[in-house]
Amino acid sequence: MEAKGLLSFLNYNWVLSPPSSRMTNLSQTQELFRRAEAVCFDVDSTVIKEEGIDELAKFCGVGDAVTEMTRKAMGGSMTFKKALTERLSIIRCSREQVNKLITDHPPQLTPGVRELVDRLHERKVKVFLISGGFRCIVEHVATQLNIPLHHVYANRLKFYFNGEYAGFDESQPTAESGGKGKVISVLKEQYGFKTVVMIGDGATDLEACPPASAFIGFGGNVVRPQVKERSSWYVTSFGELSKELEKI
Ligand SMILES: [Mg+2]
Repeated sequence: MEAKGLLSFLNYNWVLSPPSSRMTNLSQTQELFRRAEAVCFDVDSTVIKEEGIDELAKFCGVGDAVTEMTRKAMGGSMTFKKALTERLSIIRCSREQVNKLITDHPPQLTPGVRELVDRLHERKVKVFLISGGFRCIVEHVATQLNIPLHHVYANRLKFYFNGEYAGFDESQPTAESGGKGKVISVLKEQYGFKTVVMIGDGATDLEACPPASAFIGFGGNVVRPQVKERSSWYVTSFGELSKELEKI
């Protein structure tokens, strides 16, 4: 299980658990999407083109070291949380560096996502962002998409009073393996949603279904073959999803 957490985190998908008996077929997934009460998006390589932690590492001048650490960690067994801790202990970004990253290299929205989120909002569908990345970056993305900040679930970086890196909030569900599923369970309970659709590129997104009612694989930025294989509906552009909403 521990190894699975890390591998999922790194988006190496060959250790996925067997398909759930509750998995929906293509037309069921499309129907669930058309009548969803809530749609949850992954952020890195889904709503935005890049992986936030890699961009942060590059910006802080430790891109190669983080890649190397990732490679080494793959040989051992490590939880999602441990892998995040290790990578952040190399990056050790200050508050100022994070702010400068957002100003100098703002996250790039994937084409079509803004239109899709607008369509969903027009239909009174609740839209959430669920990310293993960092809240300060994801909030910036949410603001651009008119998604309320209380609909953002992500990890929180911590800083000392002088702005130096002080770790991250380990109590967030998104800091754990299986965290995205936990967030969806909480949303279902809190809002009484019956139909929640998860959209994402990675194994951790696929694994959030169930509790999500359906999963849509997104390959518009990067295609992860094992996620593609396991997705009853796999799209490579958000236009395909906006188009589906025109059916009703
Ligand atoms: Mg992703």
